[in-house]
Amino acid sequence: MTTGKIHSLESFGSVDGPGVRYIIFVQGCRMRCQFCHNPDTWKLDGGTEYTADALLEKALRFKTYWGTDGGITVSGGEPLLQIDFLLELFQKAKQQGVHTVIDTAGNPFTREGEFFQKFQALMEVTDLLLLDLKEINPERHRKLTGQENSNILDLARYLSEIGKPVWIRHVLVPKRSDYEEDLHALRRFLDTLDNVQRVEVLPYHTLGVFKWENLGIPYPLEGISAPTKERVENAERILGCRK
Ligand code: SF4
Repeated sequence: MTTGKIHSLESFGSVDGPGVRYIIFVQGCRMRCQFCHNPDTWKLDGGTEYTADALLEKALRFKTYWGTDGGITVSGGEPLLQIDFLLELFQKAKQQGVHTVIDTAGNPFTREGEFFQKFQALMEVTDLLLLDLKEINPERHRKLTGQENSNILDLARYLSEIGKPVWIRHVLVPKRSDYEEDLHALRRFLDTLDNVQRVEVLPYHTLGVFKWENLGIPYPLEGISAPTKERVENAERILGCRK
């Protein structure tokens, strides 16, 4: 039996997937997004350990609120770093008829080796992925997140190949991920996919800055404010977001 390292739990989530959802924030992330509002989830070895059974039992207490659309979302941190646990949790959730969502930035994805075998099994028991595409331009992506985007784009392609529904999310950060040419390039990339149910622009905000301060990490977006309403609407128009 595997245990998961869990950062925190939210009983009534309403933005990370359809309907009312029980949100499980896992501990651990290898990306270093400059706008991250949960840097306290980064450490790979922290968090509270749960078995899949214990966590599912906790979540199922809220089942009556889920209606026909709701269910469980695993967010982070980066859920795919704990793929063994995620697989066990979702297999058990599916046995109970629970709708399952993964909110991922895709960084651990590869089509190679054991990970890919597990990922294929995981997709059998996953209903929807919320996939962050933080920048389509490789250099800007690296600057913004500290990581490559080639395997993340490959994850998007793979999910399209297997027809797995996704919601694409783009955090709009002035001077980092709000470039006309990149937004158009992202749209062109999305046009090559067959499985995108929704595109969301998430405006950058500074509500998590205090966490960086508490952790003693210099905040890399010092002096950058939230995008204006006009820039958000511009990105939504280019990316074809529907309200
Ligand atoms: S992927 Fe998510 S948790 Fe990880 S650094 Fe980026 S915003 Fe933070």
